[in-house]
Amino acid sequence: MISKKAQNIAPYTAGEQPQGGGYIKLNTNENAYPPSPQIKEYLAGADISNLRLYPDPANVKLRTAIAAAHGVGVENVFVGNGSDEVLALAFLTLFERTGGSVVFADVTYSFYKVYAELYDLPYKEVALDGEYRVRVGDYVNDERRMTNDELRSGVSGIVLANPNAPTSVLLERGGIEKILTANKDIPVIVDEAYIDFAGEGSSCVPLINKYKNLVVVKTFSKSHSLAGARVGYAIAGKPLIDALFKIKDCFNSYPLDKISADISAIAIADKGYYQGIRDKVVATRDRVATALRGMNCTVLPSSANFLFVSVAGYTGAQIYEYLKDQKILVRTWNKPRISDFVRITIGTDAEMDKLLEVWKKFCK
Ligand code: PMP
Repeated sequence: MISKKAQNIAPYTAGEQPQGGGYIKLNTNENAYPPSPQIKEYLAGADISNLRLYPDPANVKLRTAIAAAHGVGVENVFVGNGSDEVLALAFLTLFERTGGSVVFADVTYSFYKVYAELYDLPYKEVALDGEYRVRVGDYVNDERRMTNDELRSGVSGIVLANPNAPTSVLLERGGIEKILTANKDIPVIVDEAYIDFAGEGSSCVPLINKYKNLVVVKTFSKSHSLAGARVGYAIAGKPLIDALFKIKDCFNSYPLDKISADISAIAIADKGYYQGIRDKVVATRDRVATALRGMNCTVLPSSANFLFVSVAGYTGAQIYEYLKDQKILVRTWNKPRISDFVRITIGTDAEMDKLLEVWKKFCK
């Protein structure tokens, strides 16, 4: 009674959410700081009788707030239940099962492979360079260095996480523009879950009118401290957004609950508060990266709210176990190229001081 697909697919494994146990939780890239205080006010005064009603299936209020924050039109915004759902719907809406492969990096957000497998989309993983950077030439027709003939002949879609996860490394916008230009008839998804922690001018949102093949996916879970609300969105040209709505309406008319939609609209309008906590996270990140490098660790250059770190002579699993014994949770992968690394979310200064204290003992 279970389909072959359900029997065989390997699902994405989310990071642990321990219930109790007194852990310092640095394993799922949540924000170290609470969401906007205006949300608390809203929730305190919320009229629960409204929950009797279904929410707006077009989410106009939230999309208007997102559009205003990014300087785009409401018709350029699609919202969903976390950017995971937005990505899942985007794969279904944009990519074909025949005529080529969906291309993404060999080390990137592992959900891309799960969606490709779920929808039976052929896919190819393109190796990042030795320093875990995207090689733009691999995605540009004239220069494609890939030896694989199938890949050279047929790319049906491209997905880039920028900054990449779990590596934290940014591809500058000029590189993405080259990829967009060279693949102008192919949909390109740029997943900007962590872009707010990167430098000004890194986001591809301002490019949506210039490149009709671009879909930028974003989330309230990281920079806006609302992982518990599950709200993500896509920004793109109107034809692609209309197509996303069409597929959404084949799946779930109301993927967002009313409260999550309302608090996300409040969050995105409170720019000053979020700029403040972003600056704190970035300052802590850079301080911790310097301290870890001072202990001879390899720390990839981070443009996100996490660090990707290795210690010579140890596997990621060994570091993970040591830290877990000390009540600190980080994330590790048993996968080629990254099994020696741990990914450490940036917590508060006090949490990171504790991490550094424990790390010092580990390195001794
Ligand atoms: N994209 C990337 C690269 C991520 O790391 C995550 C978080 N796991 C997501 C998308 C999904 O985030 P959410 O569904 O919470 O919006």
